[in-house]
Amino acid sequence: LDAVQAAVVEMEDSPHFNAGHGAALTESSEHELDASIMDGATLAAGAVCTVRRTRNPVLAARAVLDSGRAVLLSGVAADTFAELQGLSMVPNTWFTTQRRVDALRSLQQKEATGSFVPASEAEKHGTVGAVARDADGHLAAATSTGGFNNKPDGRVGDSPIIGAGTYARDGVCAVSCTGQGEIFIRRVAAYDIAARMMYAGEALDAAAHTVVFESLASHKIGAGLVALGASGNPIAPYNTLGMYRGWIATDGQLVVATHKELHPMGPA
Ligand code: ASP
Repeated sequence: LDAVQAAVVEMEDSPHFNAGHGAALTESSEHELDASIMDGATLAAGAVCTVRRTRNPVLAARAVLDSGRAVLLSGVAADTFAELQGLSMVPNTWFTTQRRVDALRSLQQKEATGSFVPASEAEKHGTVGAVARDADGHLAAATSTGGFNNKPDGRVGDSPIIGAGTYARDGVCAVSCTGQGEIFIRRVAAYDIAARMMYAGEALDAAAHTVVFESLASHKIGAGLVALGASGNPIAPYNTLGMYRGWIATDGQLVVATHKELHPMGPA
Protein backbone atom coordinates (compact mmCIF):
# COMPACT_ATOMS: atom_id res chain seq x y z
CA LEU A 1 0.00 0.00 0.00
CA ASP A 2 2.83 2.37 0.87
CA ALA A 3 4.61 1.58 -2.40
CA VAL A 4 1.67 2.29 -4.71
CA GLN A 5 0.91 5.43 -2.74
CA ALA A 6 4.52 6.66 -3.04
CA ALA A 7 4.62 5.97 -6.78
CA VAL A 8 1.37 7.84 -7.38
CA VAL A 9 2.42 10.84 -5.23
CA GLU A 10 5.54 11.16 -7.38
CA MET A 11 3.47 11.24 -10.57
CA GLU A 12 0.82 13.58 -9.11
CA ASP A 13 3.58 16.08 -8.38
CA SER A 14 5.00 15.80 -11.90
CA PRO A 15 3.57 18.22 -14.52
CA HIS A 16 3.86 15.51 -17.18
CA PHE A 17 0.87 13.49 -16.07
CA ASN A 18 -2.86 14.08 -15.85
CA ALA A 19 -3.05 13.89 -12.06
CA GLY A 20 -2.31 16.46 -9.36
CA HIS A 21 -0.08 19.22 -10.80
CA GLY A 22 -0.62 19.06 -14.57
CA ALA A 23 -4.14 17.62 -14.38
CA ALA A 24 -6.79 18.15 -17.05
CA LEU A 25 -9.26 21.05 -16.80
CA THR A 26 -13.05 20.89 -16.62
CA GLU A 27 -15.30 22.79 -19.03
CA SER A 28 -15.14 25.68 -16.48
CA SER A 29 -11.31 25.74 -16.57
CA GLU A 30 -10.98 24.26 -13.11
CA HIS A 31 -9.52 21.07 -11.73
CA GLU A 32 -11.61 18.33 -10.13
CA LEU A 33 -9.44 15.39 -9.14
CA ASP A 34 -10.27 11.75 -8.48
CA ALA A 35 -8.13 9.08 -6.78
CA SER A 36 -8.38 5.71 -5.07
CA ILE A 37 -6.28 3.11 -3.32
CA MET A 38 -7.01 -0.51 -2.37
CA ASP A 39 -5.40 -3.07 -0.09
CA GLY A 40 -5.66 -6.58 -1.56
CA ALA A 41 -5.03 -8.25 1.81
CA THR A 42 -8.11 -6.84 3.53
CA LEU A 43 -10.11 -5.43 0.58
CA ALA A 44 -9.98 -2.12 2.47
CA ALA A 45 -10.30 0.78 0.03
CA GLY A 46 -10.35 4.55 0.09
CA ALA A 47 -11.21 7.09 -2.61
CA VAL A 48 -11.96 10.75 -3.20
CA CYS A 49 -13.66 12.40 -6.15
CA THR A 50 -13.94 15.97 -7.46
CA VAL A 51 -11.45 17.31 -4.93
CA ARG A 52 -10.22 20.81 -5.75
CA ARG A 53 -7.70 21.78 -3.07
CA THR A 54 -5.94 18.61 -1.93
CA ARG A 55 -2.42 18.63 -3.36
CA ASN A 56 -2.11 14.83 -3.48
CA PRO A 57 -5.52 13.21 -3.93
CA VAL A 58 -4.06 9.72 -3.43
CA LEU A 59 -3.02 10.72 0.10
CA ALA A 60 -6.61 11.75 0.78
CA ALA A 61 -7.76 8.39 -0.60
CA ARG A 62 -5.30 6.65 1.73
CA ALA A 63 -6.58 8.67 4.68
CA VAL A 64 -10.15 7.62 3.81
CA LEU A 65 -8.99 3.98 3.74
CA ASP A 66 -7.19 4.35 7.06
CA SER A 67 -10.20 6.04 8.67
CA GLY A 68 -12.36 2.99 7.92
CA ARG A 69 -15.46 5.20 8.06
CA ALA A 70 -16.16 5.42 4.32
CA VAL A 71 -14.83 4.18 0.99
CA LEU A 72 -15.52 7.25 -1.15
CA LEU A 73 -15.71 10.91 -0.11
CA SER A 74 -16.68 13.61 -2.58
CA GLY A 75 -16.12 17.28 -3.33
CA VAL A 76 -15.91 19.95 -0.63
CA ALA A 77 -16.32 17.40 2.17
CA ALA A 78 -13.43 15.33 0.82
CA ASP A 79 -11.17 18.41 0.71
CA THR A 80 -12.21 19.35 4.25
CA PHE A 81 -11.50 15.80 5.42
CA ALA A 82 -8.03 15.93 3.80
CA GLU A 83 -7.32 19.28 5.45
CA LEU A 84 -8.37 17.96 8.87
CA GLN A 85 -6.01 15.02 8.31
CA GLY A 86 -3.19 17.55 7.99
CA LEU A 87 -2.61 16.99 4.27
CA SER A 88 -1.08 19.72 2.13
CA MET A 89 -3.73 22.01 0.59
CA VAL A 90 -3.20 24.25 -2.45
CA PRO A 91 -5.25 26.75 -4.46
CA ASN A 92 -6.97 25.13 -7.46
CA THR A 93 -4.68 27.03 -9.86
CA TRP A 94 -1.67 25.18 -8.38
CA PHE A 95 -2.65 22.20 -10.55
CA THR A 96 -2.71 24.25 -13.79
CA THR A 97 -0.07 23.96 -16.50
CA GLN A 98 0.06 25.96 -19.77
CA ARG A 99 -0.19 22.75 -21.75
CA ARG A 100 -3.62 21.97 -20.28
CA VAL A 101 -4.82 25.56 -20.74
CA ASP A 102 -3.83 25.46 -24.43
CA ALA A 103 -5.41 22.06 -24.94
CA LEU A 104 -8.69 23.17 -23.34
CA ARG A 105 -8.78 26.38 -25.38
CA SER A 106 -8.22 24.49 -28.61
CA LEU A 107 -10.87 21.89 -27.74
CA GLN A 108 -13.43 24.57 -26.85
CA GLN A 109 -12.66 26.58 -30.01
CA LYS A 110 -13.12 23.50 -32.15
CA GLU A 111 -16.39 22.77 -30.39
CA ALA A 112 -17.63 26.35 -30.83
CA THR A 113 -16.84 26.38 -34.56
CA GLY A 114 -18.28 22.92 -35.08
CA SER A 115 -14.93 21.67 -36.33
CA PHE A 116 -14.73 19.20 -33.50
CA VAL A 117 -11.86 16.79 -33.89
CA PRO A 118 -11.39 14.24 -31.11
CA ALA A 119 -8.43 15.08 -28.87
CA SER A 120 -5.23 13.14 -29.45
CA GLU A 121 -4.41 10.30 -27.09
CA ALA A 122 -1.61 12.43 -25.59
CA GLU A 123 -4.03 15.29 -24.89
CA LYS A 124 -6.68 13.03 -23.43
CA HIS A 125 -4.73 10.64 -21.25
CA GLY A 126 -2.09 10.63 -18.59
CA THR A 127 -3.98 9.20 -15.66
CA VAL A 128 -1.47 7.62 -13.27
CA GLY A 129 -1.62 4.33 -11.44
CA ALA A 130 0.50 1.77 -9.68
CA VAL A 131 0.24 -1.85 -8.58
CA ALA A 132 2.53 -3.68 -6.18
CA ARG A 133 3.11 -7.08 -4.59
CA ASP A 134 5.17 -7.40 -1.42
CA ALA A 135 7.40 -10.24 -0.23
CA ASP A 136 4.42 -11.91 1.49
CA GLY A 137 2.38 -11.85 -1.72
CA HIS A 138 0.07 -9.01 -0.63
CA LEU A 139 -1.29 -6.91 -3.51
CA ALA A 140 -2.21 -3.22 -3.70
CA ALA A 141 -3.37 -0.78 -6.37
CA ALA A 142 -3.82 2.99 -6.63
CA THR A 143 -5.00 5.38 -9.36
CA SER A 144 -5.16 9.18 -9.64
CA THR A 145 -6.50 11.44 -12.41
CA GLY A 146 -7.76 14.83 -13.49
CA GLY A 147 -10.23 13.05 -15.79
CA PHE A 148 -10.16 14.56 -19.28
CA ASN A 149 -9.97 18.08 -20.66
CA ASN A 150 -13.32 19.85 -21.04
CA LYS A 151 -15.10 17.25 -18.89
CA PRO A 152 -18.47 18.34 -17.49
CA ASP A 153 -18.37 20.00 -14.07
CA GLY A 154 -18.98 17.43 -11.35
CA ARG A 155 -18.22 14.48 -13.61
CA VAL A 156 -16.67 11.49 -11.82
CA GLY A 157 -14.68 8.91 -13.76
CA ASP A 158 -13.66 5.33 -13.09
CA SER A 159 -10.44 6.10 -11.20
CA PRO A 160 -12.10 6.58 -7.76
CA ILE A 161 -14.62 3.77 -8.36
CA ILE A 162 -13.40 0.55 -6.76
CA GLY A 163 -13.84 -2.28 -9.27
CA ALA A 164 -13.96 0.06 -12.27
CA GLY A 165 -10.58 1.86 -12.41
CA THR A 166 -8.86 0.22 -9.42
CA TYR A 167 -9.01 -3.20 -7.79
CA ALA A 168 -6.75 -5.38 -5.63
CA ARG A 169 -7.37 -8.78 -4.11
CA ASP A 170 -4.70 -11.02 -2.65
CA GLY A 171 -4.24 -14.29 -4.50
CA VAL A 172 -5.88 -12.84 -7.61
CA CYS A 173 -4.66 -9.51 -9.01
CA ALA A 174 -4.07 -5.81 -8.55
CA VAL A 175 -5.23 -3.55 -11.41
CA SER A 176 -5.11 0.19 -12.21
CA CYS A 177 -6.77 1.43 -15.41
CA THR A 178 -6.67 4.36 -17.82
CA GLY A 179 -9.03 5.33 -20.62
CA GLN A 180 -12.50 6.84 -20.95
CA GLY A 181 -13.88 6.25 -17.49
CA GLU A 182 -17.54 5.98 -18.44
CA ILE A 183 -16.82 2.75 -20.32
CA PHE A 184 -14.63 1.35 -17.52
CA ILE A 185 -17.47 1.98 -15.07
CA ARG A 186 -20.06 0.34 -17.33
CA ARG A 187 -17.75 -2.65 -17.90
CA VAL A 188 -16.61 -2.79 -14.24
CA ALA A 189 -13.28 -3.27 -15.96
CA ALA A 190 -10.79 -3.81 -13.11
CA TYR A 191 -13.09 -6.22 -11.30
CA ASP A 192 -13.92 -7.99 -14.56
CA ILE A 193 -10.28 -9.05 -14.78
CA ALA A 194 -10.39 -10.41 -11.21
CA ALA A 195 -13.73 -12.15 -11.88
CA ARG A 196 -12.43 -13.85 -15.02
CA MET A 197 -9.48 -15.14 -13.00
CA MET A 198 -11.56 -16.28 -10.01
CA TYR A 199 -14.60 -17.76 -11.74
CA ALA A 200 -13.25 -18.85 -15.12
CA GLY A 201 -9.73 -19.74 -14.01
CA GLU A 202 -8.16 -17.43 -16.62
CA ALA A 203 -4.53 -16.36 -16.28
CA LEU A 204 -3.91 -12.66 -15.57
CA ASP A 205 -2.57 -11.83 -19.03
CA ALA A 206 -5.44 -13.62 -20.81
CA ALA A 207 -8.07 -11.93 -18.63
CA ALA A 208 -6.49 -8.47 -19.05
CA HIS A 209 -6.08 -9.01 -22.79
CA THR A 210 -9.77 -9.84 -23.21
CA VAL A 211 -10.85 -6.80 -21.20
CA VAL A 212 -8.55 -4.33 -23.03
CA PHE A 213 -8.73 -5.69 -26.58
CA GLU A 214 -12.29 -7.04 -26.65
CA SER A 215 -14.63 -5.66 -23.94
CA LEU A 216 -13.28 -2.08 -23.80
CA ALA A 217 -12.07 -1.88 -27.40
CA SER A 218 -15.57 -2.80 -28.60
CA HIS A 219 -16.60 0.73 -27.48
CA LYS A 220 -13.89 2.18 -29.75
CA ILE A 221 -11.97 3.76 -26.88
CA GLY A 222 -8.29 3.83 -26.03
CA ALA A 223 -7.72 1.66 -22.98
CA GLY A 224 -4.76 0.59 -20.92
CA LEU A 225 -3.92 -0.77 -17.49
CA VAL A 226 -1.16 -1.98 -15.24
CA ALA A 227 -1.73 -5.26 -13.40
CA LEU A 228 0.04 -7.77 -11.23
CA GLY A 229 -0.99 -11.28 -10.22
CA ALA A 230 -0.28 -13.46 -7.20
CA SER A 231 3.02 -14.42 -8.86
CA GLY A 232 4.95 -13.50 -11.98
CA ASN A 233 5.82 -10.25 -13.70
CA PRO A 234 3.62 -7.16 -13.97
CA ILE A 235 1.75 -6.64 -17.23
CA ALA A 236 0.72 -3.38 -18.91
CA PRO A 237 -1.54 -3.99 -21.92
CA TYR A 238 -2.90 -1.04 -23.94
CA ASN A 239 -4.70 -0.66 -27.25
CA THR A 240 -3.39 2.84 -28.00
CA LEU A 241 -0.15 3.77 -29.76
CA GLY A 242 1.73 4.00 -26.49
CA MET A 243 1.45 4.13 -22.71
CA TYR A 244 4.15 5.39 -20.34
CA ARG A 245 4.97 2.60 -17.94
CA GLY A 246 7.70 1.15 -15.76
CA TRP A 247 8.11 -1.92 -13.60
CA ILE A 248 10.47 -4.05 -11.57
CA ALA A 249 10.40 -7.62 -12.91
CA THR A 250 10.74 -10.75 -10.74
CA ASP A 251 14.48 -10.82 -11.61
CA GLY A 252 14.84 -7.42 -9.89
CA GLN A 253 15.44 -5.50 -13.11
CA LEU A 254 13.87 -2.08 -13.65
CA VAL A 255 12.29 -1.55 -17.07
CA VAL A 256 10.63 1.55 -18.55
CA ALA A 257 8.76 1.99 -21.83
CA THR A 258 6.60 4.49 -23.67
CA HIS A 259 5.77 2.48 -26.79
CA LYS A 260 6.61 -1.07 -27.87
CA GLU A 261 10.34 -0.86 -27.25
CA LEU A 262 11.40 -1.76 -23.69
CA HIS A 263 14.29 0.03 -21.99
CA PRO A 264 16.08 -2.08 -19.35
CA MET A 265 17.50 0.24 -16.68
CA GLY A 266 19.47 -2.31 -14.65
CA PRO A 267 18.82 -3.57 -11.13
CA ALA A 268 16.18 -1.58 -9.22
N1 ASP B 1 -9.93 7.14 -16.63
C1 ASP B 1 -9.85 8.57 -16.52
C2 ASP B 1 -11.22 9.12 -16.30
O1 ASP B 1 -12.14 8.73 -17.00
C3 ASP B 1 -9.26 9.27 -17.69
C4 ASP B 1 -8.13 8.58 -18.38
O2 ASP B 1 -7.55 7.64 -17.86
O3 ASP B 1 -7.80 9.01 -19.49
O4 ASP B 1 -11.37 9.98 -15.47
